[in-house]
Amino acid sequence: MIKNILSDKELTQLMTLLRDAQHIVVCGHVSPDGDAMGSCLGWADYLYRLGKEPTVVMPNHCPDFLKWLPGYYRVQHFIDRPGPVEEAFAKADLVCCIDFGEASRVQNMQQTLEKCPAPRLVIDHHTNPDPALATAMLVSRPKASSSAEVVFRLIMQLGGWPQMTRSAATCLYCGIMTDTGNLAWSADDPELYQIISMLMRKHIDKGQIYRNVYYSYSEDRLRFIGHVLGDKLVTFPDKHAALFTITRQELTDYHYIRGDAEGLVNMPLQIKGMKLSVSLREDTEREVVRVSLRSVNDFPCNRMAEDFFNGGGHLNAAGGELPFPIEDAVQTVEKAIEAYAELLTGVPAESSDAAK
Ligand code: 5GP
Ligand code: MN
Repeated sequence: MIKNILSDKELTQLMTLLRDAQHIVVCGHVSPDGDAMGSCLGWADYLYRLGKEPTVVMPNHCPDFLKWLPGYYRVQHFIDRPGPVEEAFAKADLVCCIDFGEASRVQNMQQTLEKCPAPRLVIDHHTNPDPALATAMLVSRPKASSSAEVVFRLIMQLGGWPQMTRSAATCLYCGIMTDTGNLAWSADDPELYQIISMLMRKHIDKGQIYRNVYYSYSEDRLRFIGHVLGDKLVTFPDKHAALFTITRQELTDYHYIRGDAEGLVNMPLQIKGMKLSVSLREDTEREVVRVSLRSVNDFPCNRMAEDFFNGGGHLNAAGGELPFPIEDAVQTVEKAIEAYAELLTGVPAESSDAAK
């Protein structure tokens, strides 16, 4: 058995919230990733089994490589048709915000979310969630690998295991897999593998889920990655840092579709000794530059994102945005790297295995 995630008091509180709700909005963050999609769809499937009427809403679209997820076809997108999303909020007697901790993470849907009077349950694994978002209950577990793991543990404790469908298990596994880089990071809790073992008992097809997400590139996407790594990557060798920029023109040249840049920021960390990788990408919808940060070991991407990029996130993966041209954004990154020079210089730690 896996450990309980909630205290008895919290469990009672959650059960009461669910008992008193029928029309439930399950809400993810802007540009939903595998964990946002997987945890929202997995939770919605559970609510469905409970006899509730959940509506999954997202501010905008997820990448194509997540659209195979069971239940995706029922997701309502605010950017396409705000009407049905607003109706779902108007009817809601509970709103579940999953995989984010601040209202601003739903961007253009923020007003709709905030003016909805229904109680809000927040299920998240990011640090420092805003208590104002969780008007009814906050389940914040920053040590968890993913929100999907938190959702799984909640369903277990609520007694929903026997009814869990293969579809829900598939969604939750996808969330865990994508947020841990296929179990390469944030995946040191031995219990996580018990959870995966349980998901396997629901007959998920692990290999197929992997291929659906990671082996579904278009030719354009592969060539785009080649261009960025070949022509755009800049390194700061003594700082063990790397940076690349992506302009709108390049996105057009390579027929960019949402998700084509996903994961790209991880790749410079494949260089031996690299500690920090930063990507700057001109947004296609708004006049901002999107910043993504990835690091290894204890370099705090989230602190750098808060200090320099109006953002936040996790220790090893964070993001933010800058409201000025990409050339100026490059200077901000250089300043940030300079400010964190002390942490970045120094001999990079060998892997913990090698050090043993
Ligand atoms: P990505 O680089 O994939 O866009 O984001 C990595 C992580 O950083 C996300 O999972 C999220 O936790 C965090 N993040 C990304 N963008 C923002 C942002 O604008 N604000 C905050 N607070 N966190 C962000
Ligand atoms: Mn997410």
